Amino acid sequence: MSKIGEQKKRIIHFYCRPCAEYHLKTHPHYRAMKRRAALRRKAKEAKAAQEAQQ
Ligand SMILES: [Zn+2]
Repeated sequence: MSKIGEQKKRIIHFYCRPCAEYHLKTHPHYRAMKRRAALRRKAKEAKAAQEAQQ
């Protein structure tokens, strides 16, 4: 019966949009999601850099 333990447990979960439910971060969709987010951020930065040059 430890609240700290419960919070730790919650942190290792994430909301998986493709599955529409919570999964452990070891779930394969988590890696795919992180990769997509990184690509999106990169694309945004590249666009901003391009606009700054014009
Ligand atoms: Zn999933």
